[in-house]
This record gives sequence, structure tokens and C-alpha cells, in this order.
Amino acid sequence: MSIEVQNILKLYGKQKALNKVSFTIPSGEIVGFLGPNGAGKSTMMKILTTYINQNEGTVSINGFDTLTHDLEVKKSVGYLPEHNPLYLDLYVKEYLNFHADIHKLSNNRIEEVIELVGLSPEKGKKINQLSKGYRQRVGLAAALLHNPEVLILDEPTTGLDPNQLAEIRNLIKEIGKTKTVLLSTHIMQEVEAMCDRVIIINKGEIVADKNLKDLLENQEQIIEVEFDLRVEEQLLNKILNLKSAKNIFDNTWHLTFETKEDMRSKIFDFAQENGLKTLQLQQKINSLENLFQNITN
Ligand code: ADP
Repeated sequence: MSIEVQNILKLYGKQKALNKVSFTIPSGEIVGFLGPNGAGKSTMMKILTTYINQNEGTVSINGFDTLTHDLEVKKSVGYLPEHNPLYLDLYVKEYLNFHADIHKLSNNRIEEVIELVGLSPEKGKKINQLSKGYRQRVGLAAALLHNPEVLILDEPTTGLDPNQLAEIRNLIKEIGKTKTVLLSTHIMQEVEAMCDRVIIINKGEIVADKNLKDLLENQEQIIEVEFDLRVEEQLLNKILNLKSAKNIFDNTWHLTFETKEDMRSKIFDFAQENGLKTLQLQQKINSLENLFQNITN
């Protein structure tokens, strides 16, 4: 396992920022760590990167315990903090040189990483001359310099414009082909765009841990239908794949299906077969965004 987290408790005073948090991540996965603001994402990431210690529980990265082998953990982990502390007056190369010195790395490695994160056109500039998207690339470059196996990215796309967002997402996906990546976000679309798996945290506790493929396949479909006449629920239950039927008002129903197939034509057929007319037929997909809201509310 690249990352093993067991029963983590983290207190700030009396407040439980993390309460019995456990998860494992095998190498090579890109995992989204999703939760509303204040859920405990940054706290967990700071523990994973040895910036702070937990009160209870154990964390290991590449088999190294974060409390007893913090140097080995630091070598295995690249960390992009939420408010990446870039020194704005430094040139890109100077900033990366500074980080390379800490790890005793060669100039060649700096050039390699500049190329990898697409910083070449901007490498001669001062950091304060760069757009937010390019500053984020500098942060990623610094996190990648010592070629860590695990990357921890705290809200890596916050504040980017749509173009920058797409570029950084692609870059993270590319990097994720050879590394284990845990990235935090409070936006479900981010997870959909980049991740193999999502771990959802709310109020310091893990509330879901799922593969994206499974989530996408099991999305619910709700169809709002208005018939011209009164219908009994028993009759509606004859519709194939129907999970539930809810009477909204008068002759209008919300029919829930667990299938990706568009069920509107089946409902139309059902109405005809039973001497009914459909006055209105509307499909509403229960999106991942809704799922996230349902879980965290
Ligand atoms: P997230 O990253 O999901 O927004 P955080 O891990 O930053 O959440 O915060 C989790 C909870 O812990 C919040 O209620 C926050 O106010 C609290 N918290 C975070 N850091 C500190 C700190 N250094 N001192 C006291 N409380 C903190």
C-alpha cells in the first residue's frame, strides 16, 4: 500500500477535526479527497506529510510510519499545500534551485521537471509575473523535484480560470500515470474529471469511499411524469426496472430507476398499454453532485 491510514484522531483543543479516520490507497491510484469546507481535508493531508501529528492512530507511507520514520516519509511524498507559499520575488529557476538544494538534486533534474510540468516558456520569469495557473505549475514542479512516489495535492485547482483548470487537470492525470495521487477538493466535478476513486469526508469522518466507475454506473434516474388520469402505485410497479414511485401531486409522479437506459419511452408504452395519456414526461439524472450533497447534508 502507498498510503495506510488507521483510526486517526486529531484534536484542536476539544474539537475533533478527524475522528477515527481510516483508508488505504494502493500505488498508482488517483484518489479525490472530497468534503465541504472545514471537513478535515487539510488536517489529514498535513498529517500524511508529517507537518503535524495525530493524537491517536497510525499513518504509513510506502510502509514508513509518519511518527517514527518522518525523514523516509518526506522523501516518499511530494506536497502541494493549499496556499502554496511561493516566494514571489524569486525567478522560477531560483525557486526550484532552492528546493533542489534541500534534496541535493542536480540542475538536470530541475530542467527535467520544468519540462514535465510545461513550465519551459515561463522559466525565465519571476514568480510574480506568472498567472495563477503557471504558479500552480511551479508548486507542482517543486513537489515533484525529488521524484516522490506519492503526491499530496491540497485543493490544486482552486482559483484557476477554465483554461488553466483544464490544463492543470490534464497535467495531474498525466503525472498520476506513474504516481499515487491524493488530491483534495470540495467540488465533485473535480473528482469526476481526474480521479479513479473518491473518499468523502464530512465533519471529520469518512462517509463514503467508492470507485468512480461504480458510482457512474449506479447513478439514479428520476422521471417526472404526469398522466391524464389517476393511477395506482401497484400498477406503476409493473414498469421494468422501477425502484420507487412517489406521488408528487394529483396525477404527477416521480419514478426512480437504477439504469442508464433512458426509460421515458418505456413509460410512454406503459401509459398506452393501460389506456393512459402522458401529459408531461421529464428526465432528471441524480448526478454525482446530488449524491455528494445528500451524503454531506
Ligand atoms: P478542510 O481542509 O476540509 O476545509 P480543515 O482540515 O482545514 O478542513 O479543518 C477542519 C476543522 O479543524 C475546521 O473546523 C477548522 O476550523 C479546524 N482547524 C483547522 N486547523 C486548525 C488549527 N490550526 N487550530 C484550530 N482549529 C483548526
